[in-house]
Amino acid sequence: MFGLIGHLTSLEHAQSVARELGYPEYADQGLDFWCAAPPQIVDTIRVTSITGQEIEGRYVESCFLPEMLANRRIKAAIRKILNAMAHAQKAGINITALGGFSSIVFENFNLGQMSRVRNVTLEFERFTTGNTHTAYIICRQVEAVAPRLGIDLAKATIAVCGATGDIGSAVCRWLNTQMDVAELLLVARDQERLTALQAELGRGKILGLDEALPLADVIIWVASMPKGIELNPDRLRQPCLLIDGGYPKNLAGQIQHPGIHVLKGGIVEHSLDIDWHIMDIVKMDIPARQLFACFAESMLLEFEKWYTNFSWGRNQITVEKMQQIGQLSVKHGFRPLLTLN
Ligand code: NDP
Repeated sequence: MFGLIGHLTSLEHAQSVARELGYPEYADQGLDFWCAAPPQIVDTIRVTSITGQEIEGRYVESCFLPEMLANRRIKAAIRKILNAMAHAQKAGINITALGGFSSIVFENFNLGQMSRVRNVTLEFERFTTGNTHTAYIICRQVEAVAPRLGIDLAKATIAVCGATGDIGSAVCRWLNTQMDVAELLLVARDQERLTALQAELGRGKILGLDEALPLADVIIWVASMPKGIELNPDRLRQPCLLIDGGYPKNLAGQIQHPGIHVLKGGIVEHSLDIDWHIMDIVKMDIPARQLFACFAESMLLEFEKWYTNFSWGRNQITVEKMQQIGQLSVKHGFRPLLTLN
C-alpha cells in the first residue's frame, strides 16, 4: 500500500475545505486549532496502471499549514509532520510521499534526528520526498512547451528560482547535461549555496530575482515560499514561459498578459481515472487524472514494490535517478501536464 502526506495551502484554504466537506465547526477555527489538530487518513485511493496492475493507497492530511512557519509556530509544524509520518507507518503503509512542505519541514528542522514519535520508531525507508519525479516532470514540461511558444531552447535563457533547493538543483543538473540551453540563471537567497551549485554545474549566472526576471525566456519557479509573490508582467520578456512548481504556488493570482504563459509545474496526468476525492480539494482541472508528481512517485514505487526512500536528503538527486523514475512514469501511464493556464 502507498501513502500520500499532504497539506492545504493556507488557513483560508483549510477553512473553505472544512466548510465544503460539511465540518462548519472546523471552518470558523483559527491557526491555533490547526496547530492542535491530529493527522487523519481522509481518502482511500485506487490506481490502475496502463499495464493493468492495480494498487491501493491512503491520503494522510497532516493539518500542517504554511502559516505555521510564517508565524513561528515551528514546534507545531514539526509535530504535524512527525505525527503524520507515524500515523502513516502505523496504518501499515509501505511507501509514503512527503508532499509539498512536508519534506521541507523534515529537512530544514533536521527531523531525521527525531525518529521516535511516542511509541513509534519511524522507519525512514518507508518515506520518499517524491522530488526526483517532480524535477523530472518539470524538465519534460520545459522541453515540450517552450518550443510550442516559439522559444528556441538552444538560444534561450532559463532562470531557476529556488535553484539551490532539492528540486531546483536537480532541474539545473538536467538542464546542464540533458538539454541544449544557451544560458542558465541561478536565483535563491543564500550566496554560499549558490556559489557551490555554480561550481558543481561549471556554469550558470548568479542573479537576484529582480535582475533575472527581465532576462529570462523561461522561468522555473521551485522556491519554498509559504505565500506566492505578485509579478509585474510588463517586466518580462515576450514570449515568456513561467512554470510554477511551488506548493503553495510561487506566483500569486492569475497573470493575464499576451505573450506570458503560465504552466502548473510538477503536475502529471494519468492515462486512466484514479478512484479518489482528494484532488478536488486542491483544485486540479481534471481531478480524477491530475496530481502532484511527488505523489505519483510513491505510486510508482508501489507499482514496482520498491519499498525504499528513492528520493531522500537534500540536493542528491542525480540525472540517472531522474531517468529511472521517468521510465517508470511512462511505463505506468503518467505524462507531464502540458496545458497552459
Ligand atoms: P527546498 O527547501 O529544497 O528549496 C527551496 C529553494 O527555494 C532554495 O533554493 C531556497 O534557497 C529558495 N528560496 C526560498 N525562498 C526564496 C525566496 N523568497 N526567493 C528566492 N528563493 C527562495 O524545497 P524543495 O525543492 O523541496 O521544494 C520547492 C517547492 O516545490 C516548494 O514550494 C514545494 O512545496 C514544491 N513541491 C512541489 C511538488 C510537486 O509535486 N509539484 C512536490 C514537492 C515539492 P534560499 O533559502 O537560499 O533562498
